[in-house]
Amino acid sequence: MELRFGEKEENLRKEVREFLRTNLPKTEGEGGGQLGSRTDAAFEAALKFNNELGKRGWIAPAWPKEYGGLGASIYEQMVFNEEFGYNGAPDTGTRGFGVGMIGPTLIIHGNEEQKKRYLPRITSGEDIWCQGYSEPGAGSDLAALQTRAVRDGDDYVINGQKIWTSGGHRSNQMFCLVRTDPEAPKHRGISFLLIDDIKNQPGLTIRPLVNMANRHHFNEVFFEDVRVPARNLVGEENRGWYVGMTLLDFERSGIGTTASQKKTLENLTKTLKGGPAWKREKYRHKLADFVIANEVGRFLGYRIGYIQASGMVPNYEASVVKIYQSELGQKIYNFGVNMLGLSGQFVPEEPRAPLGGDMPESYIQSVPASIYSGSNEIQRNIIATRGLGLPRG
Ligand SMILES: Cc1cc2nc3c(=O)[nH]c(=O)nc-3n(C[C@H](O)[C@H](O)[C@H](O)COP(=O)(O)OP(=O)(O)OC[C@H]3O[C@@H](n4cnc5c(N)ncnc54)[C@H](O)[C@@H]3O)c2cc1C
Repeated sequence: MELRFGEKEENLRKEVREFLRTNLPKTEGEGGGQLGSRTDAAFEAALKFNNELGKRGWIAPAWPKEYGGLGASIYEQMVFNEEFGYNGAPDTGTRGFGVGMIGPTLIIHGNEEQKKRYLPRITSGEDIWCQGYSEPGAGSDLAALQTRAVRDGDDYVINGQKIWTSGGHRSNQMFCLVRTDPEAPKHRGISFLLIDDIKNQPGLTIRPLVNMANRHHFNEVFFEDVRVPARNLVGEENRGWYVGMTLLDFERSGIGTTASQKKTLENLTKTLKGGPAWKREKYRHKLADFVIANEVGRFLGYRIGYIQASGMVPNYEASVVKIYQSELGQKIYNFGVNMLGLSGQFVPEEPRAPLGGDMPESYIQSVPASIYSGSNEIQRNIIATRGLGLPRG
């Protein structure tokens, strides 16, 4: 058994590292360049970075060439994700929602016109997508969604509300699930629609929801007679549930998260090395435990990569990774805040914050990780039923 990447992947890794060394935006003190970034400047920097990726075909390397990718293997994609995660490469939503969700969905369920229209705009970095699934009464039980779309001539007319729409205020495009047949059993009356140019859609209002890290990450979105052309329906009317469940990401190992946690552990180790002896004595065993746990996470991620590279679809194994990484992240960042002492609570805006204020920021931002993408309770249900074969009830 040999557990390492091949020469091709390692050469690619060098190339990616070199690119990141010269192109990574400097957004320290601004809460990273991600969707929830506090300042417009950080978001603009992330956009610029993304455009550079787009020029190289690096936004969706694993997509087929005809759709603007490089046709890269799962292992090559893992190298990208590992390096991006370790080095804190920002995303604007293009890679997460564009490449991770709507792109694969269109590749499988979209018609030729939809593929031609939308996929190149994802791989160029031009379009930023957001996801309109959750509603105030529909989260884990997503099929309970009530946002209504009624066919009227060549359009659908949408009324209702979405919630927790990450990056809705930064996006220009939304994919969403709507109810088109209220009489049908709940999974069968849902359709999948694309909404263009959401910032300029009459009747569509985006309102901020500020999270407990004081970041504007997600939003409420209200629809009042919003008209969407019927050509924006993906798949068949009333069969949208099955379209919406296609989240066949080209790489689902979560290896970027593990790499980012590894970097955090390295930063904490450096801090401990330069600190007083009593602190090293107090924290070194706990730190060592996290290094072990992080390695376990890496191998759980590699297992997913292996399953996908072998042409199989990860099932409960992806739930194992999701639970493991999200809960480990919460523990690591909590540990980091404690280890840094009182000043460890300084947020990125405070110039004296150790490690750029990353620890409290990451700790607070890690809390919802066990809720989004299917809460960890739902993931445990999946492991119990699909993994262990236990009955549902
Ligand atoms: C940071 C963040 C970003 C998000 N971004 C988006 C986005 O961009 N677009 C979008 O559409 N949604 C988004 N969401 C919403 C997310 O998908 C939902 O929060 C999630 O599905 C849970 O739904 P809920 O919040 O309604 O909780 P509920 O479904 O009401 O769950 C409440 C609690 O009950 C538990 N529970 C529910 N059902 C079961 C069950 N069957 N068995 C055991 N326990 C159960 C849950 O685990 C949870 O602890 C985001 C959420 C967060 C936190």
